[in-house]
Amino acid sequence: QPLVSLRDISKVFSNGTVALKDMSLDIGAGEFVSLLGPSGCGKSTVLRIISGLGEPSSGEIRWGHATRDRHGHEEHGIGFVFQEPTLMPWATVFKNVWLPLRLKGKSRRAARQEVMEALATVGLDGFADAYPRELSGGMKMRVSIARALVTRPKLLLMDEPFAALDEITRFKLNNDLLHLWETFGWTVIFVTHSVFESVYLSNRIVVMASRPGRVVEDIAIDAPYPRD
Ligand code: ADP
Ligand code: ADP
Repeated sequence: QPLVSLRDISKVFSNGTVALKDMSLDIGAGEFVSLLGPSGCGKSTVLRIISGLGEPSSGEIRWGHATRDRHGHEEHGIGFVFQEPTLMPWATVFKNVWLPLRLKGKSRRAARQEVMEALATVGLDGFADAYPRELSGGMKMRVSIARALVTRPKLLLMDEPFAALDEITRFKLNNDLLHLWETFGWTVIFVTHSVFESVYLSNRIVVMASRPGRVVEDIAIDAPYPRD
């Protein structure tokens, strides 16, 4: 049973733009799926609909049962990483990652522990007290990844997360992300218009075309790169 199923989703904006037409897509637990396609083909619209930030005009979204990750933690909700890290500038790195956990009702102590673990996971131990303005673009992106991770999302949605970064930082973060995915077994939907990135990262590439936005290819890749 898929984690999430889109059935015949269409999206028509009020100005008449048909952003998506009859799009169907099943995402299985543990998949790392790239949505690849030119600007304007509806990739962000798909993510917004899956995340609940946007409503489809017609069609249906179905969710599979609640899942647990391989450490037995119950997973919930959706993590969203945007192209521009949307950090709170007045708050430390620690507070930026800590707040969503507190908002979800975690105790101060438990939240603190999980934040420190998440920062270590993304290679930012030692930066808990820094402010966003003191960090490079790549480090800010790591903070927003940590912030998405602490809530243990059952689905991690990433909308061109590395597009604003230089090639070297981008390549490094690609490797880190791949390593994290292999370690934790998340389900990831990754929007990109980089063919390289989609081939390197994902085990499935969903290619979209525009006017109207739709799926034109759905390609499974057994081993995106030599593992082990
Ligand atoms: P992508 O993420 O692939 O670049 P989008 O999902 O952002 O594409 O947009 C798909 C299409 O819908 C584009 O033609 C875009 O201009 C249009 N669109 C997106 N948001 C809106 C909106 N709020 N109102 C009208 N048209 C929109
Ligand atoms: P408040 O002023 O709301 O009490 P604090 O800034 O004191 O917030 O921090 C809230 C919680 O986060 C406290 O439990 C604190 O110990 C912890 N905390 C704050 N900053 C850090 C940090 N850099 N490293 C580890 N824990 C921190």
